[in-house]
Amino acid sequence: MFNLIGSAINGVKHALGGLYQVKRGLETVAMHTWREPTTEAYPDKAPELPPHFRGRLALTVNPETGENLCISCRQCERVCPDKCIEITANKSTETNKLELIDFKIDHGLCMFCGLCTEVCPTYCIINTNDFEMADYTRSSLIYDLKKLTLTQEESAYYFAAKEMPLPKPKPAKPAAPAAGAAAAKPAAEAKPTATVSPKPAPESAKAPETTADKPAKEVEKKESPSTDTPSVN
Ligand code: SF4
Ligand code: SF4
Repeated sequence: MFNLIGSAINGVKHALGGLYQVKRGLETVAMHTWREPTTEAYPDKAPELPPHFRGRLALTVNPETGENLCISCRQCERVCPDKCIEITANKSTETNKLELIDFKIDHGLCMFCGLCTEVCPTYCIINTNDFEMADYTRSSLIYDLKKLTLTQEESAYYFAAKEMPLPKPKPAKPAAPAAGAAAAKPAAEAKPTATVSPKPAPESAKAPETTADKPAKEVEKKESPSTDTPSVN
């Protein structure tokens, strides 16, 4: 008899517990029915990523002039823990500056830590919002300079989105003087040459005076004795 009553009580307890769980489930369903969905309809709808999302690496250009901003300082190459950056640069004999020849990043090795973007002094290397990099071979994940370089519009977008300061305009090179510039100088500026008097010659260097140089009167005096000489007689 007692066993029968005990099992009946247990059955009621289980039934109430089950009803409580059903109520909780219905409450959760009701709550999410009116809530905005947290899932995204990717790839139909691209996700909205934060500006500092660390996606595919790329090289920016000056948004105004289109110049490549890399100065080949190799700081990104040195700091990379995976050693997946390879820079080829050459020192120009004309400008005595490093000129970038090629820039390779192996995205198959990269762990997207963003250290290379932190050390870059010119905001050249950045993480973009692109994460769709699936490919069929590992070699196709090695991006070269052409594949890494962004367009002016893309660079302008990332400079604004990441709030990076725009590159300063380079100082204008001084114009090379024209061949006939000296001739074109005004006559007043030219050094007077005809008016410069030569230094007086030293006494020793002077030519000895000859009788021909002396005045005619003195020569006459020496050649003919004076008539004014009083006579002894
Ligand atoms: S994100 Fe990190 S691992 Fe990738 S290239 Fe830059 S420094 Fe190297
Ligand atoms: S740190 Fe910046 S400027 Fe220097 S080599 Fe790397 S990308 Fe170029």
